Amino acid sequence: MKSVTMKTNGFSKQLNGDIHAATKRTTEREEIGHCPVSNGVNGRHVGVGANEGAQVDERVSTVQTSLPFLRKLVDVIIQDGLVDAMDRNTKVCEFLPPAELKARFPEFPIGQEPASDAQLVDVCKKIIKYSVKTVNPRFFNQLFGGMDVHALGGAWLTEALNSSQYTYEVAPVFTLLEKEIFNKMLGLIGFQGGDAIFVPGGSMGNVYGMNVARYRKFPEVKEKGLYSLKKPIALFTSDKGHYSITKGAAMLGLGTGNIFKVGTDSMGRMLPKNLEKQVEAARSQGYEPYFVNATAGTTVLGAYDRLDAIADVCERLGLWLHVDGAWGGSVAVSRKYRHLIQGIERADSMTWNPHKMMGAPLQCSVFLTKHKGVLQECHSAHARYLFQQDKNYDVSYDTGDMSLQCGRKIDVLKLWLLHLASEIRKTAGFRLIAEPECTNVCFWYIPPSMRGQTEDSAWFDRLAKIDSSA
Ligand SMILES: *Cc1c(COP(=O)(O)O)cnc(C)c1O
Repeated sequence: MKSVTMKTNGFSKQLNGDIHAATKRTTEREEIGHCPVSNGVNGRHVGVGANEGAQVDERVSTVQTSLPFLRKLVDVIIQDGLVDAMDRNTKVCEFLPPAELKARFPEFPIGQEPASDAQLVDVCKKIIKYSVKTVNPRFFNQLFGGMDVHALGGAWLTEALNSSQYTYEVAPVFTLLEKEIFNKMLGLIGFQGGDAIFVPGGSMGNVYGMNVARYRKFPEVKEKGLYSLKKPIALFTSDKGHYSITKGAAMLGLGTGNIFKVGTDSMGRMLPKNLEKQVEAARSQGYEPYFVNATAGTTVLGAYDRLDAIADVCERLGLWLHVDGAWGGSVAVSRKYRHLIQGIERADSMTWNPHKMMGAPLQCSVFLTKHKGVLQECHSAHARYLFQQDKNYDVSYDTGDMSLQCGRKIDVLKLWLLHLASEIRKTAGFRLIAEPECTNVCFWYIPPSMRGQTEDSAWFDRLAKIDSSA
């Protein structure tokens, strides 16, 4: 064995290896070297150069020796995490309080000694044992549940390929898939010709709505900040709207105190008349109103704001209408329940979470807008190391600058596989039960000992204690 010193990125690396083998690797690298793929981080080319060859081979052999672990783990995940977890007789969760749970995992502190693959598989089995089995038919969560195996397959494949969605060159197939899926979603909503982007959750989707709406009306804010505004600006959401509006107002410097809460009817739907009143009130208090958040499926009651009536108000008063459809927007794919979002095509933007009602694996959230280009204009920073304008392909396929993120997880494949699988099964739409409008069933449990008594505030306090501990 000869010892060869190689220069790698300006660093010397001591390698034990055969110089001929290194030369052979060089030739192989050069063959793939003309693929114009930059790594997207510093514009260097991946897969070129003799000296990187050995390093790459080292990485490959590490992966190869770990493959038996991965195969074993996949079997464990399928058996313990899916097949057994789905069984009605399996507990949804072996729940333990934090201190007791911690005691079951002496493996958690990172020590000096590496663990064997067999030990790691055992720990993974234990992790499954003490985790919540969301695939179990007895698992009921407010907002998600169930499992689509095709979508899970998409999520796994995405993880294995481990790329980032920011440029076409590192995610060519997924960029095309996104375009396809987005066109479909935009069409379903009535935003044809608009733009869409995957966001890390519905809350972020709502923040995107607040931000692009502000950019549209006050573009100077992007450069000059809120200091450029002559008046404080006001936003409107119902008193049943999601708390992400509050978080967004804090984060964007709008101020949580500048949100006007619009009243709702007994079903939890925004009162359009009250919206008009609140806008007037804001104006008379010296505000410049700019943004209305309507909700398609409120988080607790599942109420659908009447979008046509709200759009009338927004059009008349010149306000951006955003629809938070994080929970209930998926009715867009249902022939039976599409009417709940009637008028949505009149909105300016929308948040839609396929990871809730449609059963796509978390996270799968989309922000859509009918205003083509506004995402790019509002969010772009034109990083020259990443979004070079002289690449040898149509750079409009680099969607990264529309996002507030840099590296972005690929969320499209699981949704696309889910969609195709459901088409194949010929399920006509999704089974969505309306209770009263949506799937939300809100109830109190009144135990026998409390029935037939005067329902005063002390009685309700006791009831709340019992029901919250159940
Ligand atoms: C769940 C929900 C959100 C937040 O979505 P995340 O993906 O959990 O961030 C926003 N709005 C409504 C109405 C929701 O139900």
